[in-house]
Amino acid sequence: PYAGPSADEVLEKRKKFLGPSLFYYYKKPLNIVEGKMQYLFDESGRRYLDAFAGIVTVSCGHCHPEILDAITEQSKLLQHATTIYLHHAIGDFAEALATKMPGNLEVVYFVNSGTEANELAMLMARLYSRNLGMIALRNAYHGGSSSTIGLTALNTWKYSIPQGEIHHVVNPDPYRGTFGSDATRYAKDLQDHIDFGTSGKVAGFIAETIQGVGGAVELAPGYLKRVYDIVRKAGGVCIADEVQTGFGRTGSHYWGFQTQGVIPDIVTMAKGIGNGLPLGAVVTTPEIANVMSQKIQFNTFGGNPVCSAGGHAVLRVLDKEKRQAHSAAVGSHLLERLRALQERHDIIGDVRGRGLMVGVELVTDRKEKTAAKAEAAVLFEKLRELGVLVGKGGLHGNVFRIKPPMCFTKDDADFLVDALDYAMTKL
Ligand code: PMP
Repeated sequence: PYAGPSADEVLEKRKKFLGPSLFYYYKKPLNIVEGKMQYLFDESGRRYLDAFAGIVTVSCGHCHPEILDAITEQSKLLQHATTIYLHHAIGDFAEALATKMPGNLEVVYFVNSGTEANELAMLMARLYSRNLGMIALRNAYHGGSSSTIGLTALNTWKYSIPQGEIHHVVNPDPYRGTFGSDATRYAKDLQDHIDFGTSGKVAGFIAETIQGVGGAVELAPGYLKRVYDIVRKAGGVCIADEVQTGFGRTGSHYWGFQTQGVIPDIVTMAKGIGNGLPLGAVVTTPEIANVMSQKIQFNTFGGNPVCSAGGHAVLRVLDKEKRQAHSAAVGSHLLERLRALQERHDIIGDVRGRGLMVGVELVTDRKEKTAAKAEAAVLFEKLRELGVLVGKGGLHGNVFRIKPPMCFTKDDADFLVDALDYAMTKL
């Protein structure tokens, strides 16, 4: 049994010694002391079904034994030395990752987080294109550093500081978007934005294929194909942020961008790549990487032996356990059951997503699509009481984000939907 400090003691220390911007999800914050695959345990030993995976990070499962072994074995031999010396782990991992990429995306840079990956991608785009302007989508989340805050377009995360030349175009959101699912009109808006709002030249375009923090919003079909063409004609490069959508989570494809039939120039990743290790990566073409050779690009921990051994084990485990196909099967079962639930509960305005990247948007009025903020908050607490942890998202916090570790089973999906049904019936 757990013998550490109580939730109240942990909270008190956190309030005293950690920054006031930290937020916690539940009215009475949850004190998590152990994790095993798709389950988390609190201080009293109570088990929770984890349908949010530490914000879409624990891809293979909490404390997956094979990944744990890889990390432990490497830690005993050598934890750190940096890339100023040779070590096989970084090259082995980079090779394994490159084989997962389409086209000539084969040069890998390792960093420590999604924010760092997007920082580096933006630097590459600007150096390669010799332009400054970046285009991103409204409702996007790409990081919280002073320059990636510029790419992020959700006011909850943005400070009013100089953010460089960044343009946010209309979000191709099939549920709430101005042009519904019409990718042509959204693409026209982007073209207009380049024509009227920039010099006519841009550095690049960045998007998540399914917006994570924004509430599992899938881009209108055909959108990326159209805008990639427009952006490239304006001299820019196309960046896919795969921090949440990568590694088979969408079920149908290994990478989110493949669901839109495009090949980006730069791909950024983090979270699921490390199953919980602080790890991120940027993968690009030799041509773009070549521009970066004018100066040194160095990252002390990037590709460190322990993270490389762990990340490499993640790739192996995902393949060995066929997690992409599993996400497709469990995800379609989950979506089917959620859609049936939607027929019985008016509060469910939209059910969307792919594989194990799913969103349930709650509204008080289906026609007006009024965000059911208060109801979402009550249901969210109720789910926790019932032993189910989901994420919250969207600008108004009215979207449940269901993005569990990819070992999540059909039975787990049933339990989650039954809990949601019960909570909604009681609402
Ligand atoms: N991109 C996306 C799509 C994300 O969801 C996040 C994190 N929520 C980031 C980038 C930033 O990643 P990190 O928190 O590791 O810096």
